[in-house]
Amino acid sequence: MLVLSSPSGAGKTTLSRRLLEGDGAITLSVSATTRAKRPNEVEGRDYYFVTPEKFGDMVKAGDFLEHATVFEHQYGTPKQPVLTALGRGRDVLFDIDWQGTQQLKERAREDLVSVFVLPPTHEELERRLKARAQDSDEVVKKRMAKAASEISHWPEYDYVVVNDDLDRALFKVRAILEAERARRARLVGVSEFVATLVKTRITPS
Ligand code: ADP
Ligand code: 5GP
Repeated sequence: MLVLSSPSGAGKTTLSRRLLEGDGAITLSVSATTRAKRPNEVEGRDYYFVTPEKFGDMVKAGDFLEHATVFEHQYGTPKQPVLTALGRGRDVLFDIDWQGTQQLKERAREDLVSVFVLPPTHEELERRLKARAQDSDEVVKKRMAKAASEISHWPEYDYVVVNDDLDRALFKVRAILEAERARRARLVGVSEFVATLVKTRITPS
């Protein structure tokens, strides 16, 4: 389970999309949210857009792996698609905030790798929020006001990536993913594989 978090506008959605395009072994966890759909967003691809009532029902039914209130709206990770993907041996990518990351950590610390994405400067963060041109001025202001408190959670993450140049940041996220996939404890069937290697060496041909 790979988590990307950042203050809004730092570029984690852009990084996630690029990562998914170039890696066939990872699946994006699509969250449910009560916030309004942005003009360029697609139901089921970016989020499941639900009413607060429906969200409440899902919480009661235990449908979420984690859920939290962010910028006055509710966001949650539907449990079943994640369990299905993991059960098929796939990696799962989460674009969630620090509250959700903490909840996932409590449930599955050993299976979780977390990356905090930072913008190169405060000014660039504001420029990106405005350049996205998907939110009103008021929403941009609110998100900038919350940036400092979101950034304060960076020490809770395993890795920090500064998203200055997009290709460089993507390279780092891919490198983290590949290195974490190669961890001995995560390699399924490695003992059996090594046994075949040893046998090959001692069996005369
Ligand atoms: P987040 O998901 O963290 O809120 P987005 O991925 O939506 O952020 O990015 C916010 C805006 O910044 C988008 O318009 C995106 O195209 C732009 N952006 C992302 N990364 C970079 C980068 N490295 N350099 C310049 N612009 C970027
Ligand atoms: P946005 O409204 O810009 O898409 O997302 C706002 C914030 O909510 C981002 O920090 C994003 O990572 C976070 N977020 C999105 N989905 C979830 C989720 O399912 N759970 C939690 N905890 N945070 C989420």
